[in-house]
Amino acid sequence: MAIAGAGQLNTREAPTWGSRSVDCFEKLEQIGEGTYGQVYMAREIRTGEIVALKKIRMDNEREGFPITAIREIKILKKLHHENVIKLKEIVTSPGPEKDDQGRPDGNKYKGGIYMVFEYMDHDLTGLADRPGMRFSVPQIKCYMRQLLTGLHYCHVNQVLHRDIKGSNLLIDNEGNLKLADFGLARSYSIDHNGNLTNRVITLWYRPPELLLGTTKYGPAVDMWSVGCIFAELLHGKPIFPGKDEPEQASKIWELCGAPDENIWPGVSKYPWYNNLKPTRPLKRRLREVFRHFDRHALELLEKMLTLDPEKRISAKDALDAEYFWIDPLPCDPKSLPKYEASHEFQTKKKRQQQRQHDEAAKRQKIQHQQQQHSRIPPPMQQQSGQAHAQMRPGPPNAPMHGSQPQLVAGGGGPGHHYGKPRGGPSGGSNRYPQGGNPSGGGYNHHPNRGSGPYPPPQAYGRGAGGNSSYAGGPPNYSQGSGSYSGAGGPGGGRGNARGQQYNNWQ
Ligand code: ADP
Ligand code: MG
Repeated sequence: MAIAGAGQLNTREAPTWGSRSVDCFEKLEQIGEGTYGQVYMAREIRTGEIVALKKIRMDNEREGFPITAIREIKILKKLHHENVIKLKEIVTSPGPEKDDQGRPDGNKYKGGIYMVFEYMDHDLTGLADRPGMRFSVPQIKCYMRQLLTGLHYCHVNQVLHRDIKGSNLLIDNEGNLKLADFGLARSYSIDHNGNLTNRVITLWYRPPELLLGTTKYGPAVDMWSVGCIFAELLHGKPIFPGKDEPEQASKIWELCGAPDENIWPGVSKYPWYNNLKPTRPLKRRLREVFRHFDRHALELLEKMLTLDPEKRISAKDALDAEYFWIDPLPCDPKSLPKYEASHEFQTKKKRQQQRQHDEAAKRQKIQHQQQQHSRIPPPMQQQSGQAHAQMRPGPPNAPMHGSQPQLVAGGGGPGHHYGKPRGGPSGGSNRYPQGGNPSGGGYNHHPNRGSGPYPPPQAYGRGAGGNSSYAGGPPNYSQGSGSYSGAGGPGGGRGNARGQQYNNWQ
């Protein structure tokens, strides 16, 4: 796997950048709706190639071209790696923007700008949220290793991602995982001593040093998020689903122990330490709570979810962890099953449609029962019965336990090792998670499901507990932490950060 060293950035650019029109592409389907623009699956008319078009939203911008997009383009143009999404070109739509009915919309005359990316079939959140989805241990190892390899490349090239989470990790049907959404990323230098913005990283994946208000940080912030993703893959749901900064911090302290000067020298000097420190002594419980994880997985997780950023494991060292070198080995990405396209945006939409469908069916049923109890002439009863029967066949997205994809786990081909000889016999073939998660590695985004904070993983299989409590993903920014927002403290995540002026952006 190619890992470029520092200074090995490819700054080559296509001569056509920015000169072509979006009309060269035919939009097929919307696949994403982010805070700052829509993403479409599209086909290049001339070549037939399928791409993703990310529209840069200009309607909120009073200051001209959004700085976040400038950052994203600038950084992505430099990064060339198999585990980082490829920005192919920029295209523009010169004419007035059209409204939903195809009429020119006077208010939106600004000309659209789109980033053209290679198309990826899934994002990790969308894929994990598929009904009946189960990841095998070799599959988790395969994704984790690619995530770490891509991130190591970014860090070596002095780029912090600052928004690592499932919906920003794209996966194609060849099993390749790529880091995407560099809208919050920035270049940093190791000797740079300046202040960075504190308001980055989606709350659930935000490290303790950012919650405590630091403005001096480095690659360790991304490694915390990687630890959260790793635990989530093994555990079956997000491990720190806080609703605001104080709750986020307390969830971390409850699992990782109280931050104090012994384990984290200097922590008491952090701006928000006194506000967010736990009010009672708390022991680290990670090993106890996740005792069902395999020993090597737990060992690595411990190092990623280390409170003190100075002691937290780097991407490079994580790639050398025993976990990736013992049986079952990470599988060859190509051996992974192919799934129907799944992006967070679509899976959420489908779930919403499913809910509406279920509610309609319920209403229909009640109506039907009422009609049966009342004195309705037989023909009408029959009609109603027919309508009811039509609603009955299984909804398209219902959990289908008999149709779970077969997970294949190849033996880890020679190209998939990272600087170390292959350890142990190649294997893992057809293995479902062993030790890593006794239930089979169920993975579901149902933050509100289950009774206690860490019930056994069996509880998370889709369909086990109904899905009406789906929380819809992590909040992107602070919700209701009023006591902090006015005082310049931990006030929020990407929404705030992205809305900042250029000068405040660090
Ligand atoms: P935002 O800043 O709006 O979060 P992202 O770049 O994360 O923007 O895109 C939003 C969503 O669109 C992603 O979570 C993913 O589902 C989808 N998406 C983005 N880029 C691609 C791509 N290259 N291929 C396929 N889907 C993509
Ligand atoms: Mg995103």
